[in-house]
Amino acid sequence: MPAASQPSAVSHHYDDGRDGTHCLDCIVADIRREYLSPAQNHPWILGFSGGKDSTLVLHAVINAMLGIDPERRTREVHIVSNDTLVESPLVMAYLRSVQERLREALGYLRLPVSVTTTRPDPAQTFWVLLIGRGYPSPNQNMRWCTDRLKIQPTSCYILDHVSQHGAAILVLGVRKDESQSRRASIERHRNLNDSNLTPHTSLPGALIYRPIMDLTTDDVWEILAEHAPPWGGTHADLIQLYRDAEGGECPVVLSKDEAPGCGTNSSRFGCWTCTVVEKDRSLQGFVDAGRHQYQPLVDFRNWLREIRNDPQHRSVERRNGRIEFKDGKHVPGPFTIQARRMILDRLLEVQHEFGDILISQEEIDMIHSVWTQELTR
Ligand code: SF4
Repeated sequence: MPAASQPSAVSHHYDDGRDGTHCLDCIVADIRREYLSPAQNHPWILGFSGGKDSTLVLHAVINAMLGIDPERRTREVHIVSNDTLVESPLVMAYLRSVQERLREALGYLRLPVSVTTTRPDPAQTFWVLLIGRGYPSPNQNMRWCTDRLKIQPTSCYILDHVSQHGAAILVLGVRKDESQSRRASIERHRNLNDSNLTPHTSLPGALIYRPIMDLTTDDVWEILAEHAPPWGGTHADLIQLYRDAEGGECPVVLSKDEAPGCGTNSSRFGCWTCTVVEKDRSLQGFVDAGRHQYQPLVDFRNWLREIRNDPQHRSVERRNGRIEFKDGKHVPGPFTIQARRMILDRLLEVQHEFGDILISQEEIDMIHSVWTQELTR
């Protein structure tokens, strides 16, 4: 478990003598100023993945809004989470519980804040594409999932708001300390006219505000450990979740270059079905922490990865009907209909054993209709 990714009990002090307690106050003050900025009053869209960084941003934004007179709280804030429909079930349960608490608290705090979950298009979910259309389990060379499961649902939500309001500001929990590539990406993009906002590179009309970009991982954990969230309770469940999952997270993803952790070993809060990684570390972490009900999911994922390259499960032709070769080697087509049936049967067995929904009835119906279309073509 990398030390930099874990909740830390070590107290952090800044060069100027401030400690973590003051740091939250500083962030809240910055956010309050930004919220009240007269130059722009576009809605804020806060990407909330349930991970530590976006939790801290959410915590600070709600605190900042509570410190503003009600009549000046005119900017809408949308808290947006994405559910790929194959999220790690434990992480999803945690995210839903925070969303429920938030909704309840927002009711009596009377803040102009909404809580939303985006999802992939029903015809583009992981199971509909893999079992319905036979897309081979994703790998590094054919990562068909990130765009459809993560980027498109959130991007559509943002672009909707851009077209309604002329622009929208994405409030993100990204930090330079996350990785070298994150630091380079943050430092590469220039702020707009002396503001704290950077234009998004692939979403026209979207601007990015990063209120915690200079914090270290230890700073984040320290603040979360020391301050109860304004929606009630503590951050203890989040800290425990990271301990059990052994670290990393999958932030809200808005473009491919912002998804360095998606489908890599550094991301342990991604989809439970992720076959891009060699070994799933989050579910295995939960099993190792005593949550044995996740073992069938770990076994299923490993099996899905294994059968990917077995020629008996792949069509000879590609989906376009052609037989293709690359560098003299045959390029297999999608999973055969028999293999897709086998995957669905096994998934339903795992679902039965696990005792909770892993594939929805809507997805099963969609899969059957795709099969019918293919067989009657
Ligand atoms: S976590 Fe894995 S399966 Fe999920 S979108 Fe990322 S690469 Fe694809």
